[in-house]
Amino acid sequence: MDCLFCKIIARQIPADIVYEDDKVLAFNDISPQAPVHILIVPKKHIDKVSNLKESDKDIVCELIFTAKKLAQEKGIAESGYRLVLNNNRDAGQAVLHIHLHLLGGRKMGWPPG
Ligand code: AMP
Ligand code: ZN
Repeated sequence: MDCLFCKIIARQIPADIVYEDDKVLAFNDISPQAPVHILIVPKKHIDKVSNLKESDKDIVCELIFTAKKLAQEKGIAESGYRLVLNNNRDAGQAVLHIHLHLLGGRKMGWPPG
């Protein structure tokens, strides 16, 4: 499959992996936008939120709970962090494999750009 994140999951492309279990992989973003910027991806290829199925509910849950755990480990749980899940063009989704951004370690602006 011609998917960047599937290739990272398959170890065909290197990444700075910070967490893995049977359902998800997490790695540092190659172009970090905050002191902590981790991408959490399901091992199952799902291109975008719009195409999630009812049967994918547990995977979505796993993404969020992994973010919560990593935020704790990285020491940003108390100071705060942002979870971002871009969907499709207007949101700026560049990689069509669902990924949850975990961003923290600095004060964030609102509204997002
Ligand atoms: P999005 O715009 O939500 O689709 O986010 C895609 C993210 O993937 C961006 O933050 C990129 O910096 C990141 N990215 C692209 N290629 C890689 C890579 N090879 N390893 C890690 N992160 C990547
Ligand atoms: Zn994929």
